Amino acid sequence: MPIINRIAEYHSDMKEWRQHIHAHPELMFDCHKTAAFVVERLREFGVDEIHEGIAESGLVAIINGQGDGPTIGLRADMDALPLQEIHDHDYKSTVDGKMHACGHDGHTTMLLGAAKYLAETRNFTGRVALIFQPAEEGGGGAEVMCDAGIMDNFKINQVYGVHNIPGPPLGQFLARKGPALAAADEFKINITGAGGHGAMPELTIDPVVVAVQIASAIQTISSRNVAANDNLVISITEIHTGTAGNIIPQTAFVGGTVRTLTKEVQVMVVRRMQEICDGMAAAFGANVEMDFQYGYPAMVNHDKETDFAVEVAKGIAGAENVETDVPAVMGAEDFAYMLEHRPGSYLFIGGGEGASLHHPEYNFNDDMSPIGASYFVKLVETAQPLNA
Ligand SMILES: [Zn+2]
Ligand SMILES: [Zn+2]
Repeated sequence: MPIINRIAEYHSDMKEWRQHIHAHPELMFDCHKTAAFVVERLREFGVDEIHEGIAESGLVAIINGQGDGPTIGLRADMDALPLQEIHDHDYKSTVDGKMHACGHDGHTTMLLGAAKYLAETRNFTGRVALIFQPAEEGGGGAEVMCDAGIMDNFKINQVYGVHNIPGPPLGQFLARKGPALAAADEFKINITGAGGHGAMPELTIDPVVVAVQIASAIQTISSRNVAANDNLVISITEIHTGTAGNIIPQTAFVGGTVRTLTKEVQVMVVRRMQEICDGMAAAFGANVEMDFQYGYPAMVNHDKETDFAVEVAKGIAGAENVETDVPAVMGAEDFAYMLEHRPGSYLFIGGGEGASLHHPEYNFNDDMSPIGASYFVKLVETAQPLNA
C-alpha cells in the first residue's frame, strides 16, 4: 500500500495549491487569505460542514463517513515565518519579509489532498474533523483552538499531525513515543546594582559582575543538576548592559531559553534558577528579578496511537522506511496542546535533500504531498473501517 493511486492522479493539483499558498504567506493568527483558499477548495470537494473563524483564522471542516462512529481529528498548520525568502522559483513569496520556511504550506496541502479523497470516497465510518490552525510559529494557535472547544464541540476522540523534515530520505517516516519535542520556555533576568565611575568600583554595586556570575552559574544546571540521559538545554542568548568604557552601569539584563522534555526537569530548572538569582543577589548586594515565561509544553506522543500511526506509515512507506525510535527534538510544537486534550500522535516525514527548516532557502518538496495525504487518509480508513 504505497501512495494511494487516486491521490497520485491529482499530484499536479496539489502542487498548484501548495505553490499558491507558498507565494502568499501570512503570519501568526492572520491567516485569513490562506483560510479562504482552503475553504474554497473544501467547498469544491463537497465536505459536509465548514466552521470558520476559530482562533481568528482557523477552521474545522467535517466529512461524514458511512454510519455512526467516532470522529478522528487531522491537523495542519497554515502560518509562515517573518523571513525574507532567498530563492528564484516562479512561486516565490510575493510578500517582503514573509515566507513559508517551515513547510506549513505543504502540511495544509497534504490535508487538502486527504480531504478531497475522503469527501469523494467515504470509505470509513463516523466522521473526520479536518483542523486547519493558524499561529503555530509562536502564537500557540493550537491552544487557542482547543480553548475554543474544538475537541468537545466536534467530539474528536483522537488527533494526528505531521511535520516535514529536510534531510531524511523522501517519504521516510520518523516516529517517537512519549516526549518527542521539547517545552520551550524563556527567562528574563533583570539585575539592578548601583552604577558609578569605572575607576571607582568600590563605590558601586557592579551589575556586570552579577550578570556574568549568574550566566555562568546557570550553565551548571544542565551539567550538574540533571542526569546525563535527561535532556535539557539552557541557552543564554542575551546579555545587555553598559554604555561606555568608563561607566559602571546601573542595570544589566540576562535572557535565554530553556528546553525540557519532562515536567520534573522543568520544575527543577525553575527552582535552581531562582536559587541562583537569589543567591547572587545576596552575595553581591544587588537586586535580581527573574521572570520565567512558560511557552509551549513538551509534545508527548501517546503510546497506543503512536503504535497505530507507525503501522499505518509502514503501509505507505514499507517497514524499512519507518524509524520508530528517533531521538527527541529540542525544538517545540504547539500540537503539544492538542495531545494534552486528546490521545494521538505526531510524526515527521522526510523531505530528502534541501535547506533546513526556518532557512531562507528552504522549500517544501512537493513530492511529499501525496505521501502525507495518503498517510492521513489511511489513518482514517484504518481507525474507522467500513466493515469492522
Ligand atoms: Zn517552524
Ligand atoms: Zn513547522
